[in-house]
Amino acid sequence: MAGSKGQNANTSKTMQIKKYSIPESTLIYKPKAPFMAGVISTTELTEADSSDEVFNIILDVADSDIHYIEGQSIGIIPPGERETGKPHKARLYSIASARTGDDGTSTTATICVKRVFRKDEVTGTTIPGIASNYLCDLKPGDSVALIGPNGRRFLLPEDDSIDLILIAVGTGIAPFRAFIRHIFLEKGYWNGRIRLFYGIKNAMEALFLNNRNDDIGQYMTRETFEAFRALSRVHNEDSEKGYVQHKLAEHKQEVWEIICAGNFAVYICGLKGMEEGVDEVFSTLARQQELDWPTMKAEFIKNGQWNLEVY
Ligand code: NAP
Repeated sequence: MAGSKGQNANTSKTMQIKKYSIPESTLIYKPKAPFMAGVISTTELTEADSSDEVFNIILDVADSDIHYIEGQSIGIIPPGERETGKPHKARLYSIASARTGDDGTSTTATICVKRVFRKDEVTGTTIPGIASNYLCDLKPGDSVALIGPNGRRFLLPEDDSIDLILIAVGTGIAPFRAFIRHIFLEKGYWNGRIRLFYGIKNAMEALFLNNRNDDIGQYMTRETFEAFRALSRVHNEDSEKGYVQHKLAEHKQEVWEIICAGNFAVYICGLKGMEEGVDEVFSTLARQQELDWPTMKAEFIKNGQWNLEVY
């Protein structure tokens, strides 16, 4: 590798990661022939006083050929048409359940959807997002047009000695809820360290880590797992205050030690904007050792050690 001083000290130890294999071909169900999945339940994940509403929606895929694994996603096509008269495009959601589903029957898939509104820049009126409002208003017994499953890369490593650094904001936590449930509920353990960094506006919106649903938080007693929250909209001197990249920087010593040891996989999921902030943390750490972060990162991407899913 063409690198600056000391480059090989770090990256020579990294290796191609072997990920879990996906059970079968992806995109079994396509937009022209979606699977109609029944809605089993929709449950609010955000706490009552939260400014945002996020729902955990469990879909029945029993009569389909869908067998997904953690880190894959599915698409949902809202009913109706666009202004052009064409059907709506599918919206992709990470599957938030582990492979056996939330009820352990291997016949359900869970998605995590935030109700979204945008402001019309000209008129100033509030416009509800078509897909998110459709999904958040679903009731048990309804059915939705589903495509997929999708995804071949954002998957867990087979080797459970690998240290995992998981970085999410908002509903980007969905695939990590699937990872954590697979690891601690289905598999039972993970030998490597798992460090989850999660950015949300306030504690009420900490999906799967709040008073309403603690699906991730409950495993923080496990020896190898630690989770850190970053709250962007708390106005006091809360120690959790900040963006996810600030929380990552607070733990830079351990994070960099994990990177330097080479036996790791990083997963980043959420808003496109977070990528730059996260990159800056690693660039700064690399610079301090006269290492070239873009070169290192390119190698990690090639190895499957750097996994990004941001929109
Ligand atoms: P959100 O509530 O708008 O934001 C979550 C947190 O990220 C807030 O604390 C926000 O802070 C902070 N944030 C904003 N800009 C940031 C930046 N540049 N760097 C770091 N943190 C930043 O998030 P959301 O609406 O849930 O959106 C999550 C994203 O994940 C969406 O783009 C979605 O498409 C994507 N995603 C969703 C799924 C899924 O399955 N649903 C899966 C994968 C990815 P402030 O608002 O206070 O500035």
